[in-house]
This record gives sequence, structure tokens and C-alpha cells, in this order.
Amino acid sequence: MKIAAFTIEGNGTFAQDVPAFAAALAAAGADIVLVPGTSRARRSMPAAAMRAGAAIDTNVVDVTVDGDKATVQRWAYRQRILTAFSRAAQPWVIVTDPALFADICAKLGVAAAPMPAGAPAETRTKVNGVVAAGTGGESTIRPDSPLLFVAGAGWTKKQADGATHLDEAAATITGFLAKSGASLGSSKSLVDMPEAAKAFSFMSHMNQVGQTGATPRHAKGLSTCCHGEEPHVVGWRFVNDRRAVNLDANCGWAQGKADVLYVADAFAVMKKVNELLS
Ligand SMILES: Cc1cc2nc3c(=O)[nH]c(=O)nc-3n(C[C@H](O)[C@H](O)[C@H](O)COP(=O)(O)OP(=O)(O)OC[C@H]3O[C@@H](n4cnc5c(N)ncnc54)[C@H](O)[C@@H]3O)c2cc1C
Repeated sequence: MKIAAFTIEGNGTFAQDVPAFAAALAAAGADIVLVPGTSRARRSMPAAAMRAGAAIDTNVVDVTVDGDKATVQRWAYRQRILTAFSRAAQPWVIVTDPALFADICAKLGVAAAPMPAGAPAETRTKVNGVVAAGTGGESTIRPDSPLLFVAGAGWTKKQADGATHLDEAAATITGFLAKSGASLGSSKSLVDMPEAAKAFSFMSHMNQVGQTGATPRHAKGLSTCCHGEEPHVVGWRFVNDRRAVNLDANCGWAQGKADVLYVADAFAVMKKVNELLS
């Protein structure tokens, strides 16, 4: 059984050490490679072993070799049980307790050599392009827009005719976004609503404005079908000019949270606005 041992001194980054260690493991051609469990080895050796196709175990406190079989010991369950095991996989990287490394090498009659330094690794990421995060569709979050358009759960509620109009709501909202270039915000109730997820596939939790959502910065904000509850409106603290459309004259926006409240049907208002923008 061929056993190699490397000391690992000095500093090194993960990006530099992993390819260097992997190359050293491959070049050693050993069945077992011993290294001391310094912070540098513990950080990079597992990734290097994976790259080199080697098995690895850490925190080893003893190694015995009997013919073609090596057995290691390590503590388990917070030092309550001392386990002993061996592996068939080769090469096998054994990361020892750093204080026991010299004793284990001496016991096995192995002279430890310094870990060879690898060629300097390419560490700078080359940016080939940027793709907007999201579901693959057009992004509705536009931080640079002067207008924040917020959709609330009212868009999904039964309307005067006793029915919901999810598809009409989605078409009205996306139509307005396309024509105005506004950024889309949402209330928590709307993005949390599973029944709305299919029709409102253009929005996600990323659109949520409020205490547990975003605090966007736009010059103006228009809230529609949103009640204006405090946990939502705290997300508007950097929006100075605020308007809301709500059927309820006593909604939260009327309590001093909006500059203008239109007590009106948002379906009708936004349909008209979209027509005017055409
Ligand atoms: C710890 C905590 C954190 C929270 N964090 C957030 C947060 O970050 N963001 C957030 O949004 N919420 C948050 N909430 C939830 C918040 O309190 C409200 O429950 C939520 O904002 C209500 O959403 P909504 O106004 O869209 O829905 P609703 O309260 O259901 O209001 C719907 C509104 O739509 C109106 N409406 C219905 N149909 C029409 C129509 N045709 N035209 C006009 N208006 C119509 C109704 O009059 C109603 O006012 C949090 C709550 C808690 C407890």
C-alpha cells in the first residue's frame, strides 16, 4: 500500500488551493494520502478530493495499516463513541487531527513533504452578459421607473356581479404596466394566494411591498384593490406622492396614508386609464 503525506503551511485561498491540492493528490499516485487538519486543509481538501476522484475523511485520530487494509479512528457523538472504520475507495485522503499528524506519520513510517504549490489559479469571473432574474418572462420589477403600481388582493375578489375576474384583472394590470412602464408592487395577501398564482404568473413574492416585503423608492405610487393596512403601507415610506383606488371609503389609505383616494372600482378605472394611454 502506497502512503503519501503532505504538510500544509501558510495561507491560501479556496480558489487557489483546490486545483493545487487536486493536482498533488493525482500526482502522488498513492492509495492513502495523509494531511493535517489545519483550517486551510479542512476548507479546501474536501473539494480537491472530489475533483481528484478520491474519498476523504476528516478528524481522524489514529491510522493503522494491516497488509492492504487501512483502518482509521475518529470520535462520534461529541467524543462519546470512538469509531473505527476502513474504506475500499482509493485514493483515500485522511485528514488527521493536526496535533496527531506527526505521530501518525511516524507510526506509519511516512515522511511528510510540503504540499506542492499549484499554478496560480484564474480567480476573476468573466461576465459574458446579464440575464434578469425571474421566471424567464419579462421582469415587472423596475426600480428606475418613476411610478410604482401596486396590485392588492381585491383584484381576485368577487366583484359586483358575484364572480371573480382573474384573467381580466391580469390583462388590465399587465396592460397598464406595458403602457406606463411602471414597476409592479403587490400586497402580501395577493402574492400569498395560491388561487391567484396561475393568472398572476407575472408576479411573485419579489413584488411584495411592506414590512415583510420590499421598500421601493419611486417618485409616485398608485395602489389598486389594496386595503392599505399598516404592515403594507410601511413599505411605502420612500414613496412621496401616493394615490389609491379602493371601493371602500374607510380603507386604510383614507386614514392619512394616501394623498388622494379614489373611491371607485379599480377594474373600471384602470380600463379607462389603459384606453387613455393607448
Ligand atoms: C407581521 C405581518 C407582516 C406583514 N407584512 C406585510 C407586507 O410586507 N406587505 C403586505 O402587503 N402585507 C403584509 N401583511 C399583511 C397585511 O396586514 C394585510 O393583510 C395585507 O396587506 C392585505 O392585503 P390587501 O390589501 O391586498 O387585501 P385585502 O385586505 O383583502 O384588501 C382588498 C381590498 O381590495 C378592495 N377592492 C376589492 N375589489 C375592488 C375593486 N373592484 N376596486 C377597488 N378596490 C377593490 C377592497 O375594498 C379591499 O380594501 C403583514 C401582516 C403581518 C401580521
